[in-house]
Amino acid sequence: MSENGELAGYKGLALEVLQNIGAEIGDFIRVIKGGQVFEGILIPRSEYGDDKHVVIKLRSGYNIGVRLTPDAKVERVGRGEKPAFVAPPLPEQNPALPKVSIISTGGTIASRVDYRTGAVRPALTASDLYSVVPELADIARIDAQILFSLYSENITPAHWAEMAKTVAEKIAEGVDGVVIAHGTDTMGYSAAALSFALQNLPVPVIFVGSQRSADRPSSDAATNLTGAVLAAAKAPFAEVAVAMHETISDTAIVLHRGTKVRKCHTSRRDAFKSVNAKPLAKIVEKRVVMLAEDYKRRDPSRKLVVKPNFSGKVALIKFYPGMDPAIIDWHVDNGYKAIVLEGTGLGHVSNRLFQPIKRAIEKGVVVAMASQCIWGRVNMNVYDTGRDLLALGVTPLEDMLAETATVKLMWIFGQTDNPEEAKQLLKTNIAGEFSQRTLHEEMREDIKQ
Ligand code: ASP
Repeated sequence: MSENGELAGYKGLALEVLQNIGAEIGDFIRVIKGGQVFEGILIPRSEYGDDKHVVIKLRSGYNIGVRLTPDAKVERVGRGEKPAFVAPPLPEQNPALPKVSIISTGGTIASRVDYRTGAVRPALTASDLYSVVPELADIARIDAQILFSLYSENITPAHWAEMAKTVAEKIAEGVDGVVIAHGTDTMGYSAAALSFALQNLPVPVIFVGSQRSADRPSSDAATNLTGAVLAAAKAPFAEVAVAMHETISDTAIVLHRGTKVRKCHTSRRDAFKSVNAKPLAKIVEKRVVMLAEDYKRRDPSRKLVVKPNFSGKVALIKFYPGMDPAIIDWHVDNGYKAIVLEGTGLGHVSNRLFQPIKRAIEKGVVVAMASQCIWGRVNMNVYDTGRDLLALGVTPLEDMLAETATVKLMWIFGQTDNPEEAKQLLKTNIAGEFSQRTLHEEMREDIKQ
C-alpha cells in the first residue's frame, strides 16, 4: 500500500515517456506500434514491474501491458477524471453513548477500489470508515486515526509496539473500548502480540478486518466494523479479540480471543476460527453474548500495564520430510534466541534433527514444539520420538497455536534474555494462550468425531 504520486509504479523509460506527454493515471492514452493501436485508460503499475511497459485498461475492461519498443508512439488522447472519494458528512455524535477509538493500520478494510482504473487505494481513513457506516453513530461516539497504511504482510514487531502504545494512549484518555482496523492476513499475529503487550486491560481491544473492500457490494467491512465497535463499546470482557463473520452469511459476528485465533481460509468471510477454544463471544441482535465462561471482565478502574517490547530473533520452523538439519544450526549460529518447531502429529520431528536441537539447547536457545495439525494438543509422552525430544529439553506447547507461540516468545525475549526465565514465562498462561485440557466440544464442528 503505497502512493507514488500521479504515475504510481512507473519508472525509468516508461515514466519518462509518460511524463513527456504529460499523462497521469486515469488519462486516456493511445499507443501505436507495429501497425496496431492500443487505446484505453492508463492504470497504475506494480512497483516491482519493469520500466518498459505501460498498462492500459481497454474499453473491453481487460488490462494489457504494452511494451515500449523504439517504434512505439505514445500520445495522451484525453484527460481522465481523477479517482476521488468524497466521504459523506460525519453523523452527529450522541454524548450519552460510549466512546470508542478506531485505529487504522491498513489492509483491505481500509482500502477501496477505483473501478475505472482497477487500482486498490489505501484511501479510506478511519473517519471515512465511520462516515460510510453511519449506523456506528447509534452505537458509540467515534474518534478515529490512521496509524499505518500497510498491508498486514508488511507489519513487523515494531508495528505491534506502536499499536500497543497507541492503544494505551487512547485508554489513558478514557475511551470505553478500542477498535484496530487491520489487514486480515496477519491479524491473528497482531492480536496475539497485543494480548501479551497489553496486560491488565480495563476495556476491550477489538481487531477487525475484511475480506472485501468497503466499496464492493459483497463487502463484509461494514458488518465486521459494526460488530467490532459494538463489542468495544459494550462487551463485558476486557481482552484483545478479533471480530469477524461467524458464517458466510451476514447474520452474526463472532469474537475470537486474540491468542486463539487463526485465519483458516484465503477468501471466505468466515475465514477466522478459534482453535482449540470456544470463541469468546458473539453478537446477537446488537448485543454481546458471552460464549466463554473464563474471561477478564471489563473494569475501567483497572490500571493498564504496557509491555511493548518484542525481539526479532525468534523463528517459526515447519518440519517437513527431508528437512535439512543445518537449518536449525543456521538459526543458532545467527543469534536466534528461540525456535518454535511446527512438528508433525503429537509433536515430532525426524531424529536427524536431534543433534542440532541438542546443540541449540546447550547454547541457550529455547526450542519449543507446536503441532502442524493445528487442532488438538501436543503430547510428547506417547512415542519415543516425543520422549527423546523432551529429554533433549524441548518445551511442549500444549494446545497453543504455533503462530501465537512464536509471538509469545518474541514478546518474552523482549522482556528477558535469560533462557530459564523465558521457559518459565512460556509455560505460564498469560493471555489464555493455552488450556490444561482441550475439550472435544471446543474443537471445530466439522472435525468432531
Ligand atoms: N493482504 C491484505 C492484508 O492482510 C488482505 C486483507 O486485508 O485482508 O493486509
